[in-house]
Amino acid sequence: MFTSNTGPYGAVIPKIDEKDFNYYWQDSSFGIKVPKKKIKPHGGRLKIGIMGGTFDPIHYGHLVTAESAAEQFELSPVIFVPSGRPPHKREHLVTDPIERLRLTELATLSNPRFSTSSLEVERTGYSYAIDTVQWFHHHYGPTVDLYFITGADAIVEIMSWHKVERLIQYCQFIAVYRPGYAREQLHNTISQWSEEFSRRIHLIEVPALAISSTDIRNRLKKGRSIKYLVPEPVEHYIKEHLLYR
Ligand code: NAP
Repeated sequence: MFTSNTGPYGAVIPKIDEKDFNYYWQDSSFGIKVPKKKIKPHGGRLKIGIMGGTFDPIHYGHLVTAESAAEQFELSPVIFVPSGRPPHKREHLVTDPIERLRLTELATLSNPRFSTSSLEVERTGYSYAIDTVQWFHHHYGPTVDLYFITGADAIVEIMSWHKVERLIQYCQFIAVYRPGYAREQLHNTISQWSEEFSRRIHLIEVPALAISSTDIRNRLKKGRSIKYLVPEPVEHYIKEHLLYR
């Protein structure tokens, strides 16, 4: 059991005894140190989740997704990696990567199992999943199993991703979908892929994904409330920095 401190914009940060060797301290871009659980093998091999998304903005649906995936697949930690320059959104206006990174940090500070990486935001050029996954593979070594968690809509397009043949060798995928999603269609698409591909793609339904970033952006444009759709510190940061107007 641990108590908590208050961080930027009211974010709750677990207070851990510094002598507790189960934790290490991570620097956040807000200039505070955040306790994070040390990686320990769960029964056998280490399994790490890479939560990839544009997170424009991050919401409770993403957080519940990461928590459910962590529980179901015994992942620890789950590292949120906001994309820097999404290659498939060249024509779309995407919020400044630094702002999306900060929102993601605020949303994940309170969960010692979650962390946020600035890897893609700091990298120049387009954010290809292969570069990210390869980086984590080299960082943690070959004894760690990587799971890339993202939306099912994105996974449907995976065949067009950069160096996909290599990507699938480095990680498995957890494709999450909202209630009401055409699951059959998704299954049909995946079953047309080779056995090597399809057995490395896992599907999970997440009811909380009824929340969407698009809806949140639309609400903010219309001056409507986003309370209970995003964590409070995220809501405060968006208001204070006049984002999504
Ligand atoms: P997107 O097309 O904006 O999102 C597709 C759908 O998935 C949306 O409904 C989105 O909901 C949802 N979603 C996205 N990330 C999610 C997550 N982590 N958990 C749950 N739902 C999620 O997808 P994107 O966010 O731009 O891209 C997803 C990931 O795929 C990113 O890491 C991106 O870099 C990677 N990707 C890589 C390549 C490549 O390497 N060539 C190409 C495409 C995508 P919300 O709008 O509510 O988030």
